[in-house]
Amino acid sequence: MASGPIHIGIVGAGIGGLAAASLLLKRGFEVTVFEQAGAFARVGAGIQQSPNVMKVHRGLGIEKRLRELAFAPLTSLNRDAVTGATTNEFPLGREVEERYGAPFLAMHRGDLHEALADLVPTSNLRLGYKLKAIDQDGSKVRLSFENGEIASLDAVVAADGVHSLVRDYVSGPEQPKFTGRVAYRTTYPTSLLRGVDIGSSRTKWWGADRHIVIYYTTAARNEVYFTTSTPEKADWMTRESWSTKGDLEELKEAFKTFHSDVRAVIAAAPEVHKWGIFERDPLPNWTKGRITLLGDSCHPMTPYMASGAAMALEDAVILARAFDSFDGVERAFGAYEATRKPRTSAVQAGSGANTWMRNATNPDWLYGHDVWTEQLTLG
Ligand SMILES: Cc1cc2nc3c(=O)[nH]c(=O)nc-3n(C[C@H](O)[C@H](O)[C@H](O)COP(=O)(O)OP(=O)(O)OC[C@H]3O[C@@H](n4cnc5c(N)ncnc54)[C@H](O)[C@@H]3O)c2cc1C
Repeated sequence: MASGPIHIGIVGAGIGGLAAASLLLKRGFEVTVFEQAGAFARVGAGIQQSPNVMKVHRGLGIEKRLRELAFAPLTSLNRDAVTGATTNEFPLGREVEERYGAPFLAMHRGDLHEALADLVPTSNLRLGYKLKAIDQDGSKVRLSFENGEIASLDAVVAADGVHSLVRDYVSGPEQPKFTGRVAYRTTYPTSLLRGVDIGSSRTKWWGADRHIVIYYTTAARNEVYFTTSTPEKADWMTRESWSTKGDLEELKEAFKTFHSDVRAVIAAAPEVHKWGIFERDPLPNWTKGRITLLGDSCHPMTPYMASGAAMALEDAVILARAFDSFDGVERAFGAYEATRKPRTSAVQAGSGANTWMRNATNPDWLYGHDVWTEQLTLG
């Protein structure tokens, strides 16, 4: 290897890739992030950030910014879809902070992404670089992009999301299982609710075979978000996509037996997107030589525990800490994978079950975890 700092390429400037870039830059690595998009778009979605991941944001230096812009729900309120009866109410306000040492916040995904993007100098970012091929020899990884550019790196972290191209290179083509369900989701101004009160909680309304989650995404409570899990016609299928539009009339029909508060929130939505929900088993391996996977590329999960981004962000911390503790790219990648796999596999399985918080739940193992202090292992 040439002398000088190790040059690490990161594929994907999403949530996990940006966090990893910031943490590796702080450790003195040369870092280049390659992103297929020509510019960052503000996708219409909310995102919940539980105390375990708020500790990641604290270490990244963006906790204060997120506290200022985000909605801090008082409780995780779980209600029966028809009667409205409470099945479980878990405190998320001061109590959660006292218990876990960090808050639980809900925000717009675009606000979170922007805060992370601001941590990475533009000189380290390459926009409009869509990876089309990856290869490696003993010391270098070669990335080829659709724009004709080629990059040679000492190591690569693939944070290229749920449709990861690098995953296929590392562990072979995957076989996602369509769950027969979609997530309808949208954000819109609270003023469109015309006085309907969605309360101070992050509320999940549980039906027999479908649900909807509703919350504000801003401290000012001027933006509402909802996301659903809804059975889909057998003959319809989409890839997971942030841009596929959904049909509002179909959505209203699907939730017509739900409580009137839910119907009012759906009725106020000017448009809606839909995302096919797929399941995957944990991957046998995340690393091949000087290439490793991070975030959705190695542990995509159903959105039912609201923890996919949290796991990508936790990955970034353990990856950076592995470089502090283990010499050489391959040993660091090995420690990162061995440390992260049990936890991400547990969250993948828990998300698939879709029972999180419906009834009394002890979230200590998820919310109480601290990736800054956990012991790293080589497996
Ligand atoms: C409806 C819904 C609700 C959710 N709610 C929550 C929640 O409340 N809390 C939570 O923690 N998680 C939530 N998630 C999960 C979360 O969105 C993901 O787990 C998270 O975005 C994963 O981060 P990532 O960095 O792995 O991938 P992404 O953030 O998806 O980033 C991947 C990046 O790679 C780029 N890319 C892809 N292919 C290439 C290529 N070939 N070349 C170059 N660049 C490429 C993409 O453009 C993108 O920028 C939700 C997901 C859904 C669908």
